[in-house]
This record gives sequence, C-alpha cells and structure tokens, in this order.
Amino acid sequence: MKKLIITTFIVTIIMMSFPFIQKVEAIYNDRLPGSGNITTVQVNIDNGLEQRYITAWNSAVSDWNSAQSNITFDVTTAPSGNLLSAQSYATEPNLFGRITYHGLSDSTTPFSTYLNTSNSNIMTSALTRRSTASHELGHALGLADNSLNPSIMNTSRNRTSIYTPQPTDITNVNFLYD
Ligand SMILES: [Zn+2]
Repeated sequence: MKKLIITTFIVTIIMMSFPFIQKVEAIYNDRLPGSGNITTVQVNIDNGLEQRYITAWNSAVSDWNSAQSNITFDVTTAPSGNLLSAQSYATEPNLFGRITYHGLSDSTTPFSTYLNTSNSNIMTSALTRRSTASHELGHALGLADNSLNPSIMNTSRNRTSIYTPQPTDITNVNFLYD
C-alpha cells in the first residue's frame, strides 16, 4: 500500500511537470477497418442530390484515389451501405459537413456523410464543397480532426486553398493501409 501511494505520488509529479504530454493530438479516430486488409471502400453518391454536391463528392473521391494507392474509393450504384450526400442542418450554419457511422466502433463502414446545405460557403463555393467532402472522406478512412498545417483534416484550414489530401494526410493513410 505504501508503495502504491509513493508510486502514485511520483507519477502525479511527473505528469504535472510535463503538461504538454496531454496535449498530443490524435492522428487517427477509432474507426480503423475491422479486417485491417481492405483495399477498396465502396460508396454510393445520393442520386437525389443537386449536381454541385455530386461534383464535390466525385472530386473528393478522385483526389483521394490519385493521392495514394493503398486504399481506393469505388463509386458504385450497387447498394454499398456507405452514403455520400448533403443535408440541411439549419440550426448549425457554421457546420460544413458531418459523418455518422452505423456499424461497429472499430470499423470505418458503413457510414453516411453529408455536406451542410445550410452553410453559406458550402452553398456558394465549389472549392469549399470539395475541401469538405475530402475532409469527410478522410474521417471515413480513419483520420481524426487535427490542427496540423497543411492538412485536409485541419478544422481551421482555408478551404479554398487546401481542398485535396496533403502530404501529411497521405502519410497517415499509408500508415493505416500499409
Ligand atoms: Zn472533421
């Protein structure tokens, strides 16, 4: 018991001495692929969408597929369980996009992800749509939000200048799907 108290005391002192240890960002979310061996993520683009949103999702898919070769998004009309869509979050006009998961916590799939049609920048800017779509697909692959610069996963990025996966994002995805 005495040993436990002393150990706890020492660990507490060490942690207080290095507060930055607790500020390390998570690079990955907890949505790693269950099998660990997937090479393709099949997705459906909501066919009821306005063309500008369809274009954004297709661009983001192409951007990820051309950025690296370890994992591929495959747009299909066959039911895949994974949906790329758009939706109005009227009470959240500052929200750009959202992803929701329907499966096990350790799986990237199935998921549904939406561009927010109530965000004025999403409505008016093609590059903002493309950047947001790419960010959400990054989540689908297992990446977490970050504050790295430049990174497509940076929630404060300039969406009209950073709209494709950046070198750090590609490195991280290659780590997950090596
Ligand atoms: Zn995010």
